[in-house]
Amino acid sequence: MGIPIVKPIIKEEEIRAVEEVLSSGIIAQGPKVAEFEKKFADFCGTKYAVAVNSGTAALHCAMRACGIKKGDEIITTPFTFVATANSIIMQDARPVFVDIYLDTFNIDSAKIEKKITKKTKAILSVDLYGQIYNVNVIKKIAEKYNLKIIEDACQAVGGEFNHKKAGSFGDAGVFSFYATKSMTTGEGGMLATNNESIAELAKRFRHHGQSEQTRYQYFDLGFNYRMTDIAAAIGIEQLKKIDDFNEKRIKNAKILTEGLRNIKGLITPTVKDNYKHVFHQYTIRVADEFKLSRDELSRYFKEKGIGSAIFYPKPLHLYPYFEKFGYKEGDFPIAEKASREVLSLPVHPLVSEEDIRFIIKTIQEI
Ligand SMILES: *Cc1c(COP(=O)(O)O)cnc(C)c1O
Repeated sequence: MGIPIVKPIIKEEEIRAVEEVLSSGIIAQGPKVAEFEKKFADFCGTKYAVAVNSGTAALHCAMRACGIKKGDEIITTPFTFVATANSIIMQDARPVFVDIYLDTFNIDSAKIEKKITKKTKAILSVDLYGQIYNVNVIKKIAEKYNLKIIEDACQAVGGEFNHKKAGSFGDAGVFSFYATKSMTTGEGGMLATNNESIAELAKRFRHHGQSEQTRYQYFDLGFNYRMTDIAAAIGIEQLKKIDDFNEKRIKNAKILTEGLRNIKGLITPTVKDNYKHVFHQYTIRVADEFKLSRDELSRYFKEKGIGSAIFYPKPLHLYPYFEKFGYKEGDFPIAEKASREVLSLPVHPLVSEEDIRFIIKTIQEI
């Protein structure tokens, strides 16, 4: 058995919703997608939401709809999932990495301005592990240099800053509903925006460059990034539960932090003032002063039946694939340090308080 690091929560409601769609005869994009988009936009507090078939597709739509093209430079973090930076490369633009804060693991906004050139078009910020980026500072920079902000909120559905929801801060906010995410449609994604033109361009891009009003009129290159009504039906049910899911994650995180606070060499997550961190991941740092190395601790957890995971074992600039952009080891020392020290512990809604106590006890015994 043990305590897994992740487990999707699919119940009767989702199964029934899928059965209804399957019997309805409309199984590709149809009324369920439209309903999911409307409800998701309301949830985020944005005017529009455009559903697609993955978070990566949503990122690509955001890049495209924000007019990112060959030769543009996009500022982002190297400490994220590869899809963040790949969406830049998909548009033949250049990922310009900036190091992270060690406490939140998000892009260090004080280091952004130095990297801005005439070619810089956007900042692609990530809400890593479920905590939104440093909004106030990055907004000021974007205004000063006339840059777009695209928010990779794939890990932060329901997260808040100043009581406003993740995905609503920049020109476009992007979500993933992959099976391991805080809410899921199996595979799926969403682009949230207050900008009508961005919403319309994203809708065209997911649909072979056609508008939804006129068929066989191709305005531009497009892909097939459409979500199915089958997936949307699951999404509608998951959206009803996401606040409860997040509250459970936050509660589990709180107990973990209380239990692990005073252990030498273990650094528990930082939650910034005015931020609601939704703990898609509960990520500690295992520093040199701890009895075991990070990898030894991870193996020890495994023996005890406790799942753990490393997000991410290597910052993006150290992969050979990114070498062509001129990066090398030592360029982003904080991201490199984080990748050596981070370990994510089970925090999802199916982890019980008893499980949490067991995790704490297991660490204390070391
Ligand atoms: C999951 C994730 C993505 C990609 O989403 P998919 O649905 O798997 O394509 C992008 N960025 C971040 C930060 C993610 O966590």
